[in-house]
Order: sequence, then structure tokens, then C-alpha cells
Amino acid sequence: MAKQEDDFKKVISHAKEYGYVFQSSEIYDGLSAVYDYAQNGAELKKNIQEYWWKAMVQLNDNIVGIDAAILMHPTTWKASGHVDAFNDPLIDNKDSKKRYRADVLVEDYVAKIEGKIEKEVTKAAKRFGDSFDKEQFLATNQRVVEYQEKVTSTLKRLGKSLENEDLVDVKALIEELEIACPMSGSKNWTDVKQFNLMFGTKLGASADSAMDLYLRPETAQGIFVNFLNVQKSGRMKIPFGIAQTGKAFRNEIVARQFIFRMREFEQMEMQFFIKPGTQKEWYEQWKEKRMKWHLSLGMGQENYRFHDHDKLAHYADAAADIEFRFPFGFKELEGIHSRTDFDLSKHQEFSGKKLQYFDTEENKNYVPYVVETSIGLDRMFLAVFANSLQEEELENGSTRTVLKLPAVLAPTKAAVFPLVKKDGLPEIAKEIIDDLKWDFNVLYDEKDAVGRRYRRQDANGTPFCITVDHQTIEDKTVTIRHRDSMNQERVAISALKELIHAAVDMKTWLMKMA
Ligand code: ATP
Repeated sequence: MAKQEDDFKKVISHAKEYGYVFQSSEIYDGLSAVYDYAQNGAELKKNIQEYWWKAMVQLNDNIVGIDAAILMHPTTWKASGHVDAFNDPLIDNKDSKKRYRADVLVEDYVAKIEGKIEKEVTKAAKRFGDSFDKEQFLATNQRVVEYQEKVTSTLKRLGKSLENEDLVDVKALIEELEIACPMSGSKNWTDVKQFNLMFGTKLGASADSAMDLYLRPETAQGIFVNFLNVQKSGRMKIPFGIAQTGKAFRNEIVARQFIFRMREFEQMEMQFFIKPGTQKEWYEQWKEKRMKWHLSLGMGQENYRFHDHDKLAHYADAAADIEFRFPFGFKELEGIHSRTDFDLSKHQEFSGKKLQYFDTEENKNYVPYVVETSIGLDRMFLAVFANSLQEEELENGSTRTVLKLPAVLAPTKAAVFPLVKKDGLPEIAKEIIDDLKWDFNVLYDEKDAVGRRYRRQDANGTPFCITVDHQTIEDKTVTIRHRDSMNQERVAISALKELIHAAVDMKTWLMKMA
């Protein structure tokens, strides 16, 4: 645990030091769980967003993108169920006065047991060597079987009591498991209460006529209320999808873990409209497609897993998370939900407007079913950033800090250095920049020894460093150094563009999804 915490602290301080993420309003001591993306972070975030948008909108001829407003008519949130049911169960510790999400306390307890199982597996794998059969070990080792039973029964009970809104049982579970406040170690808990997560605001100037609004807690509803507008104006035929990315706001009870849980964040969502009865097959297809998108970035298959939900939200008939191994363990990165016709039917009911589709093949009208994919852009940013940050031991015994961002997402693709600040080398370096900048984000650096400049770009995540030296004047070649392998090669200036393109082109990376 201590190492995990330490690693996570390094991620946060690296993000600040290298201009990726700053705390919002830092000069006023910050605002809890609100963050600003800095000069490099804004680029990385934009690249992740584009990578998603291309995969969803550009590469699927039956998916289109929209950009709906953050403010929506307040009845939207009555219809969607958010006014009545967008609650989290909160619990306070009476001694530390700290507030927690009751379900998260239980989930953290379960994660600890899962950690123990993983430890047992690692130990046994070492002991048995090549003859180790993981499946068999998991099924037969007495201690592991007991741990697993505890995990299953705990999650089942939590799911059931949350579904039945039995908050008394949620508290009983916390007490039975003897969960202590992580701050104080005390087990002196208040009752569990529901807390609505929506931020309220007002529209209009005068106090009497002002209208109570909410900042949207998810982007999905902007898609649902536009379903018919898009279908008609785009002459869309079912099955088809509508995608959008944008800000969402949640007054999270406990906002910690940096940009993992923010109060203002960004979502990338896609609602796929289908014929009722076909939801199971589309749900499975989107689970698989989304996992392929993640894997295309090459961040290690072992760092992802599916988690199928026992507890379903009020709108869903099936739901799964794609979990990622964050520095604090496996946690939800993306949700795939089979939302039935819940949302469109509700909007139909509350607005009095028909939200139906005429299926020419079936020759009838129906309210489509929906399969949704929903990923947090900031969580994806954290997954990419944390996974890429590595301390590497070098052959000469020294270490280097390197941010091995997938090259397609890196904010700066290449840094160009003159070996020395004279003899016309800076001028050549700037000419190279002037040529490359039409295709890529590139930067110029002439400060310090070249070795230190390399280290700076390693920590910054820049995939290539290009050094101009005296030989360049004679034969128009430069040294290009690769961030991950640290290999250097001599190439013609005229070959640079193609070489960088081959490594950073979105097309090449996205094709790995096929
Ligand atoms: P959690 O269980 O972590 O609160 P959720 O199940 O409420 O998440 P959804 O409503 O399914 O999340 O939202 C879809 C995605 O939006 C999540 O998978 C996550 O990536 C992202 N997300 C949700 N809440 C936040 C938040 N407070 N900060 C950052 N990202 C978030």
C-alpha cells in the first residue's frame, strides 16, 4: 500500500512539474476536486478526445457526433430520474468527522481481499514454477477459496441493499465487516444517508422569475432529447449512434484520488439506438469494440478487466465496467450499459412528444432500445499518464524518469536541439522546426548539455529528439533519438517527416483495433 501511495504521489507531482495538471485556483489554495489542464495536459487531453472521436464517429458510418448545451430544461432531470435517484449513500465517521461514500468503503474493503488473493497467486506461481496452474490454484487453495467467497458474498449483499435502498443494511454491513475510518481507525459511524449529486443553478436575473436549473451530471441526456432531431435531419436508420464529448458536473461526496473523481469533469459518450430485443447482442459487441479501442493504445492487456454489475442502475438491463489498473488498484474507467427504452420513454412521457422510430422493414413504430458506452476523459487521461510514468534503471547504474506516452497521444512529437548555440546550428534547427510544425507539435530547446535535454524530453513524454550538429552542415543529416529505446540513428533531414509520421499517425494506431 505504501508503495502504491508513493507511486501515486509521484504521478501527481510529475503532472504538476511538467505542465500537465494544476489544481484549480491554486493561488487561493485550490478548489477541492477541481483541476486545470496545463500546456501539455491540454494537448494530451485533446489527443485522447480525438482518438475516441475518430474511432467512434469517423470510423463508423452509422454514428454521428453532436455538441449539446450543458444547461438543459429542468424537466429533463425529472424524466431521467436524476432528481429522485441520482444519489450516493454517504456516511460520516463521528470521531474524524470525515465523510465517505458507504458503498466505496465496502468496495475498498473488497479490493483489499482481492489484493490478498493476488499475493497468494504470485507466491504460489513462484513456488510451483512452470507447473503452476492458476485456475486450479484458485479453485482449490483453501485460503483463496475463502477469500473469494467473502468477496462474492459481500458484493452481493451490498448490491442488494443498495438496489432496495436498504441503507440500514448498508450500515450493518460496514459494522459487520468491522470497517474502520481510514483516517482515524475509528469504527464510530453515523447512519447512512442519501445525497443528491446534482449542482443547482439559476437561469434569469430577477429573483422571482428565475428558473431553477441543474448543471448536467452526464452528457447522455443531451443526446436523448435530440434523438429525433438527429434521426430526421440525418435520415438515420436503426441501428445508429449519436456521440458527444463534453463537461459534466457532480457534487461528489468524497472527491479524492486526483483527477479520478472530480466535481467538474468531461465525458465521452455514445448512445446506440437499436431495435428492441437486439440489445444483448449489441451490448456484447460494444463491450468487445470498446476493449479493442483501449488495447490499441498498447498499455498492456493485463491492465484491463471487465466487471459485470450485480447492482443495476434504474435504467439498465445489463451493465459492465471496463476497469483499469490505476496506481491505487483496478477501478472503473468506462461503463457499457444496456439502457433499454427507459430514457426515450420517459422523455416521451414528460414532454408529451412522440420519440419513436418508424421501422420500414418491420412496418411499425417503436421506441428504440439503447446501448451506451460512457468513458471519463479525465479518467482516461489519468490511466494513460500514470501507466506511462516509469523509473528506469539504466545500464550504467543511473536511473531515468520517462513518460512513455503512446506516441499518438504525446503532446509534443519531437524536440529539436542544436548541439551548440553557434556555428549556424540554431538556424538549421529552427528551419527544421519551421518545416515540421505544419504536421506536428514540435519544440526547440538549446539550453544545457544534450544529455540533460534528452532527460527533460523523456520526462515530458516527447517520443523523438532531433539533434543538429556540425556534420549536419556538411551532409544535411541529423541524429534522431527514440525516447523508449534511447537508440540513436543518423537520418537525412528530408526523411524526418515520414519517420515521425509512421510513429504518431492516428490511422496506424487505430488500425490496431481491427
Ligand atoms: P463511479 O462509480 O466511479 O462514481 P459512475 O458509475 O457513477 O462512476 P458513470 O455515471 O457510468 O460513472 O459515468 C461514466 C464515466 O464517467 C465513468 O466510467 C468515469 O470514467 C466517468 N466519471 C464519472 N464520474 C466521474 C467523476 N466524478 N470524475 C471523473 N470522471 C468521472
